[in-house]
Amino acid sequence: MVSFTFDDAPDSAAGEGAALLEQHGGRGTFYLAGSLIDQPSVHWHGLSNDAIVRLHHTGHEIACHTYSHRNSARLDEAAMAREIERNRSFFHGIDSSITLENFAYPYGIASVWRKPQLAKAFRSARGILPGVNSDVIDLQFLRASPLIDCEIDGAGVDRYFDEAVSSGGWLIFYGHDVSDEPSPYGCTPHLMRHALEAACKRNMPIVTVAEALRRIGA
Ligand SMILES: [Zn+2]
Repeated sequence: MVSFTFDDAPDSAAGEGAALLEQHGGRGTFYLAGSLIDQPSVHWHGLSNDAIVRLHHTGHEIACHTYSHRNSARLDEAAMAREIERNRSFFHGIDSSITLENFAYPYGIASVWRKPQLAKAFRSARGILPGVNSDVIDLQFLRASPLIDCEIDGAGVDRYFDEAVSSGGWLIFYGHDVSDEPSPYGCTPHLMRHALEAACKRNMPIVTVAEALRRIGA
């Protein structure tokens, strides 16, 4: 299996990114922080409420990335609980059928203190430690590899796919914007299409994190 995930998320991930996924019969997971929705930032504009509703009703997954996009190592238990609750109610307010089942650590920074707390609140937590999830998988620190032009090329993407096939594992990519001129944290449609075709060639299902967990039986 392969999962494509987008963090934050830029409007181009909900636009071009989601469209590319759908063209290849796949769906993605969008780890969203309520404070970034519809907001401009240095590299992109945050996706809109309407885009979130469309993603949700098209079968993409809306997942949690804290409300304020905070480093979990700097949050105590009460502050993390507030972040989770505020984000849940924010997305529930956009569409009452949105529930946040899975979490990704902002900046990829996990905290040994917050990990057990997050494990009670979410089915999984994703970091940015690259590699394939195989053999013994830490659901509360899922590995994810960059789908980011500054960090990987088509050959690098292919190597992850080959490793996923040989190990029978679960490959997760993470990225941000999808644009012909991506930010240092995003990818071109060309690289994303390459990865989607790599999955199709190997008959790998392109599924959300929630769906992958269901298939694993987790
Ligand atoms: Zn983020």
